[in-house]
Amino acid sequence: MKETLDLLKSGIRKFHAEVYGQRAEAYRRAVSEPQRPHTLIVACADSRVDVETITSTGPGEVFIARNVGNMVPAFGEIPGGVGAVIEYALDALKVRHVVVCGHSDCGAMKGLLSPASTISMPYVERWLTHGLAARRIAQATHEQTGRDLLTVLTEQNVLMQLAHLRTHPHIADALARKALTISGWVYDIATGDVRIWEDHHSPDTFETISPD
Ligand SMILES: [Zn+2]
Repeated sequence: MKETLDLLKSGIRKFHAEVYGQRAEAYRRAVSEPQRPHTLIVACADSRVDVETITSTGPGEVFIARNVGNMVPAFGEIPGGVGAVIEYALDALKVRHVVVCGHSDCGAMKGLLSPASTISMPYVERWLTHGLAARRIAQATHEQTGRDLLTVLTEQNVLMQLAHLRTHPHIADALARKALTISGWVYDIATGDVRIWEDHHSPDTFETISPD
């Protein structure tokens, strides 16, 4: 669609005029030395999850992998993009923190709860199997929490992907050496709130980051 490409081109022109123009020196500096991002964030591919905006970060600060449902396949499965990103982030870039970031109104989480909706998308159907254990936990526990199934699943999926993350040798090694910390986030698109699980929290306690 030409109109869509035109829209993108106009965005590029705006970026050059308004953003690059003001920060040209920072962009030039960013390529004069190797990138040194402090954090790897695995987030959903959802177009409303703008990781750099919600963390107030810019070029060179966060290494980002986005996929449907912010999944992290456990180590040992067929080699894929997420595993390569993890290895590169830990081995080459030596990030000091890894985030798995889920979000409200997630189509992947809805797909997990309505398997019939993904029958026409075999790759999606297969990919969502990384969230099946989280679905079991959410279905078994959401009534006693008094919260809706989708919200509980979104949190449990983040926690399950953190568990998968720990199966990757580079992650396990860095955690053991205390060179790395990890956290799980759920971003609420409508309110802008981010709820965070940290490794000193109880197993499924997410805390909302309050404004300063
Ligand atoms: Zn999503």
